[in-house]
Amino acid sequence: MVKTYSKKKHGNKRLSAHFRLYEFACSDGTDTVKVSTTNLKMLEKIRAKFGGSITITSGNRSYAYNKKIGGASNSAHVTGRAVDFVVYDKKGKAVSGKKICKYLESQKWKWGIGYMGNATHMDTKFTGNRMDETKKDKSDRNGYYTLQRHGQTFHTYFGSNFVVEASTLNIRKKPTTKSAVMGKLKKGQKVKGQILDNWLKLGSGRYCCIKDKHGTYLK
Ligand SMILES: [Zn+2]
Repeated sequence: MVKTYSKKKHGNKRLSAHFRLYEFACSDGTDTVKVSTTNLKMLEKIRAKFGGSITITSGNRSYAYNKKIGGASNSAHVTGRAVDFVVYDKKGKAVSGKKICKYLESQKWKWGIGYMGNATHMDTKFTGNRMDETKKDKSDRNGYYTLQRHGQTFHTYFGSNFVVEASTLNIRKKPTTKSAVMGKLKKGQKVKGQILDNWLKLGSGRYCCIKDKHGTYLK
């Protein structure tokens, strides 16, 4: 649900345990502030998980302000359905956006998640949308790099833990079976990597095949 407030009247109002209304207001001084209660609940959950405070870097955007900063014409920030924020841990250190994106994914967040580097975008408008906002994608109409277009989640995109299923798995220099073998992985071995089509990137110059016509080799 999205609730509408006046910054003048309710600016200091506590919307939840740790967030006040003014934090979501548009920086151009627009009085109307819309806040998604679903976003608020998740912000509290993230805060509890990572232990520190959260700074809202962009909440509401008036239509004019959104246009001025080059935001998407259908931006969820205009309707109060989006927040960009930075999360801090107990020691006051910023938590990487990668961790926040992966956490939201693990919580089965249904709508949009955007990786922005240190900050994270979260909205309740675009179902299933996963974006790397630090990248552009020419194949997308609006130039957005969406993970779903590339068959990925934030877990596979930023790397996750996998278990080797095959008896042995070759580590190759490049993601092709013609490339030189650098070493082997054994069955049951845990590896961390990033999925690139049918290959797992273990690090630069170290790849292993995830699946081919003979089967799937990682779980
Ligand atoms: Zn955003």
